[in-house]
Amino acid sequence: MRSISIFGSTGSIGENTVDLIARAPGDYRVVALTGGRNVARLAEQARALRAEIAVTAHDDCLPALREALQGSGVAVAAGAGAIAEAADRPADWTMSAIVGAAGLVPSLRTVARGGTLALANKESLVCAGPLLMGTARANAATILPVDSEHSAIFQALVGEDMAAVERIVLTASGGALRDWPMDRLAHASVQDALAHPNWAMGQRITIDSASMFNKALEVIETREYFGIAPGQIEVVVHPESLVHSLVGYRDGALMAHLGAPDMRHAIGYALHWPERRALPVDRLDLTRIGQLTFRAPDEARFPALRLAREVMAAGGLAGAAFNAAKETALDHFLSGSIGFMDMAQVVEATLDRISRDCGLGIAPDSLENVLQMDDLARRMADGIARDRGRQG
Ligand code: NAD
Ligand code: MG
Repeated sequence: MRSISIFGSTGSIGENTVDLIARAPGDYRVVALTGGRNVARLAEQARALRAEIAVTAHDDCLPALREALQGSGVAVAAGAGAIAEAADRPADWTMSAIVGAAGLVPSLRTVARGGTLALANKESLVCAGPLLMGTARANAATILPVDSEHSAIFQALVGEDMAAVERIVLTASGGALRDWPMDRLAHASVQDALAHPNWAMGQRITIDSASMFNKALEVIETREYFGIAPGQIEVVVHPESLVHSLVGYRDGALMAHLGAPDMRHAIGYALHWPERRALPVDRLDLTRIGQLTFRAPDEARFPALRLAREVMAAGGLAGAAFNAAKETALDHFLSGSIGFMDMAQVVEATLDRISRDCGLGIAPDSLENVLQMDDLARRMADGIARDRGRQG
């Protein structure tokens, strides 16, 4: 019986992971589940999966969680420290599916104890790629990608030599606003940006898909995880979201991964790796699909992709600053204080200011460094967004 923990179990990736686990209850022993304010759902999951411990991120939610789990035998805890401690509990397989930089600590603690980390939280690699990968290497931990693109790449690399890879092609759906005229984009609302054509995901990543910040994070994630040069990473818009990404080899061959847009593909692959087991996902009927289309991304619409290249060129803590500024700009967009296209401007202005004031090149070789940069960039981006909101 394998022991497993799920960080962010009440989210979109978390629920999909719970779905797969719950189909084979006899195969797993659940150690820790963590969530946010949705303690009713967290408690329900913890009871159904007989978890050892359920942790909410919020101290004020602890009484409600305790009450909901009374008599269940499930231990309860709250706060960021308790989430970090839950990651220290031995488990054979750990899903990191908290959204945002808050996912970094459980990711790091999991690899520090030599565990197997199924990594959905791309922010861990964007903020602290060298630290996470280095800690994993030093402790003989395994990291399995769960982002659909990176799972696709990982699968297209099986049995191949990294030295034979010429390029990696990341596909992007283009998000909800892909076909909007440029002059309307500035006025796009949160609801508009949430109408993702293909994938059902958490609110934040769905808006990041519309702004292409999600793809920008994924380009950096590709660089950090696969150790490939930025110039070898391409992005192509593929509205159908059926080709999940491709690896191009030096003989000209392109190996693609195709499947239904269902995250249980990537989660299931990481769960059963290195085996490939049956998964409850739709099968593609190619003759009904008929055709697949691809086009180049428009960088005027999507400044995030250009910013990702600048971040990779700057190296060091630029990824941590980029992500924190992006998260802050997204908060402001969600609260209505800045417009859709302002997000990229806030991020760019934050990066410019930090690189001018104190530089971005410091290596992300300790958690403290990363968290300090995260905090600085959040404060700076917040000030810039407030100024912009007042002007707008
Ligand atoms: P979500 O918003 O649906 O769920 C996030 C989870 O994290 C919830 O359980 C929430 O309670 C918890 N959480 C939020 N803030 C927290 C905090 N500060 N501390 C502790 N817990 C917190 O998000 P999601 O769409 O499932 O995405 C999770 C991660 O997976 C993100 O990093 C995202 O980029 C990545 N990802 C998601 C998808 C997808 O299909 N949803 C695909 C690829 C990658
Ligand atoms: Mg993805």
